[in-house]
Amino acid sequence: MSSETPNPRVPFSFELYPPRSASSHEALHETVRRLAAAGPDFISVTYGAGGSTGGRSLEVLRFIREHTAVEPLAHLTCVGNTYAGAATLIREFLDAGILSFLALRGDPPVGQDEPFLGDLESAAQLVQLIDRVQAERAPYEESPVPGIPGAARVSARRKASIAVAAFPNGHPRSVHRWQDVDALLAKQAAGATSAITQLFFHADDYLTFVERARAAGVTIPILPGIMPIVSPVRLARVLELTGETLPSELAIALDVEPTPEGRHEIGVEWAARLAREVVAGGAPGVHLYAFNQHDTVLTVLEEAGVLPVSRLR
Ligand code: FAD
Repeated sequence: MSSETPNPRVPFSFELYPPRSASSHEALHETVRRLAAAGPDFISVTYGAGGSTGGRSLEVLRFIREHTAVEPLAHLTCVGNTYAGAATLIREFLDAGILSFLALRGDPPVGQDEPFLGDLESAAQLVQLIDRVQAERAPYEESPVPGIPGAARVSARRKASIAVAAFPNGHPRSVHRWQDVDALLAKQAAGATSAITQLFFHADDYLTFVERARAAGVTIPILPGIMPIVSPVRLARVLELTGETLPSELAIALDVEPTPEGRHEIGVEWAARLAREVVAGGAPGVHLYAFNQHDTVLTVLEEAGVLPVSRLR
């Protein structure tokens, strides 16, 4: 464990995905409670491209909103959706009280000859649509006044915050080095208020990207996305999904370690070091891909000196 003084001022957040079966609901609720107790800025919930997890994502977001004090952040994808369909979806999330979004294009379905890609061509267009849909709504909201039946307090409606994805090592579709900075600039121009990065394996990947983005005019906060890689299987899976280059040092360490506990420790240490280095380099916080488990990411934050070491877990 790190002996560094915990720094409670480093903001942190988590990403979860909707449960894949009814039986994993209860476990996820417990994970939400445990993550919320650590005091994150927000907990985000992924959304299956093409709407495959729509209802289940919203259920988890509602649970976070109703049972914790943490801001729920909804990922939304637009691939395969019509303009009207995407607008209806955004309205549904806003009506549920969700005011933080991560606007994504999403990946087209594989295995179809000519998949319907949808009316929106990029995440930047989805950012604009979220902005438009929220502008249709009344600029104020009413809440009951305790003790006075029928009375309502009127207050200004909070504006939605819209995050977008950023790719420090380039999106697999990028054809040149500047394309991802240009895409981020386009998303910022469309109204994005922050960005969350794809996972990366070396602090320099993130720090260099931020430097290039700033030089090009990106001013929104860019949160580093950090994923604890605790097994060779998980490493292979994320490399396949993200197109990142194999981090040979980590891959070898995981391969030669004989025990699952040892591999877990290697992954946690790697992620904690990454978190320390990006924060030292000026990152505005850390966003952890939690894989629907609380223990690993909380330990990463403890080892990174972001959370005090818990004697209870
Ligand atoms: P876009 O920004 O529209 O495009 C991606 C890349 O294409 C750009 O970075 C750029 O390289 C290129 N590009 C696009 N438009 C332009 C342009 N006008 N000019 C130049 N270049 C351009 N997927 C899901 O299905 N569900 C999720 O919940 C989900 N969550 C994610 C969370 C994070 C933090 C990240 C990083 C990714 C997530 N993804 C998710 C994956 C994401 O949907 C895919 O990576 C998808 O291929 C790209 O989405 P995007 O929003 O970055 O798209």
